[in-house]
Amino acid sequence: MSEAFEELARLVAAGDVVVLSGAGLSTESGIPDYRGPSGAARRHTPMTYQEFTRDPLARRRYWARSHLGWQTIARAAPNDGHRAVARLQDAGLLGGIITQNVDGLHTAAGATGVIELHGRLDEVTCLDCGNATGRDELHRRLSEANPGFGARVARVNPDGDVDLPDEAVTGFRTVDCGICGTGMLKPDVVFFGETVPAPRVADCFALVERARALLVLGSSLTVMSGRRFVLRAARHGIPVAIVNQGVTRGDGYAALRLDAPLGATLCALADRLAVAPAPV
Ligand SMILES: [Zn+2]
Repeated sequence: MSEAFEELARLVAAGDVVVLSGAGLSTESGIPDYRGPSGAARRHTPMTYQEFTRDPLARRRYWARSHLGWQTIARAAPNDGHRAVARLQDAGLLGGIITQNVDGLHTAAGATGVIELHGRLDEVTCLDCGNATGRDELHRRLSEANPGFGARVARVNPDGDVDLPDEAVTGFRTVDCGICGTGMLKPDVVFFGETVPAPRVADCFALVERARALLVLGSSLTVMSGRRFVLRAARHGIPVAIVNQGVTRGDGYAALRLDAPLGATLCALADRLAVAPAPV
């Protein structure tokens, strides 16, 4: 193992490490990253909250794409990286886990108390009555409303969206809230143009400020939503370690950088530091 890995092992062995994870941690689960080595640039611009809520055609486009994308996300299983993070948590080495991912795979791997910065794709809320429903239930209703729609999916994006030509969207029928009957449904994820709820951000800042170290896993730190925690750690003199394939916008603040595959690296780390593998 490299000197950088040894240094990482020493840092994590000291405990109170807060993990900040991004899309690069889920690529080995078959969910491509936008920017990492296995991903390409996004082919269409992400939908903003304003477009989604104001434009019925944009909403139809979103749900048509997301309806297809969900089939991949729902099937995705945690990988070695997620399991290793859960093992490190089990071993008492982590002060917390913050994720930018909306796939729920940290929790599926057995991690607890995960702060899902950008929400979860598997829950849907009515913007009128506020009732929450599970995504599986919505998926069933959308499938019923759109028999035979989209048997094949080209590629799915980390936010559960697929690239789909506009002509394929024509005729897709969205559904309203099943509880109040008329409310607009929105997945419990933070859209572009929407801010992360302030208490959730405050919880993250509090975690980071209490940490002995911040460990960034699989994030290019392109968006301020995640990068601000790196900046906060740096300002408090808390060492930042980054394991990511490719450069990140936090590299200038990192005490330690590993450009390596996440699954293998984290597995080796957990093998070193956590005594027994957690049952899965
Ligand atoms: Zn409703």
